[in-house]
Amino acid sequence: MTDCLFCRMVAKEIEPDVVYETKRVLAFKDLNPQGPVHILIIPKEHIPTINELKETHVQIAGEMMLAAQVVADQLGVAEKGFRLVMNCNKHGGQSVYHLHMHLIGGRQLDWPPG
Ligand code: AMP
Ligand code: ZN
Repeated sequence: MTDCLFCRMVAKEIEPDVVYETKRVLAFKDLNPQGPVHILIIPKEHIPTINELKETHVQIAGEMMLAAQVVADQLGVAEKGFRLVMNCNKHGGQSVYHLHMHLIGGRQLDWPPG
């Protein structure tokens, strides 16, 4: 048993609202959506932050981006556009220490972010 929230989702101890899943990647709805579409894309392997990414993770990092492409298309935001965000550590605003990519869309997003 792990105390990592997202590892518990991968283990199905907690069941998020899954929108896409492959052998190595899980994508589910964010609990506190920042737009009409807000999906989290995570590797099933526990990697705490982008600082711990290694050469051996290149495949999984690429699969996360391809998953984003599929999910954006599936949820109808591909054409109008969307944003992918990965927060790292305190200044980045990271709150869950299991690597994840936010896919946010369905409205006009501001730049620069807050
Ligand atoms: P971050 O702040 O970048 O670490 O993102 C963590 C995200 O996880 C936030 O957007 C939260 O709303 C989301 N979150 C936290 N708990 C859950 C949960 N149980 N199910 C789905 N999303 C969650
Ligand atoms: Zn984890």
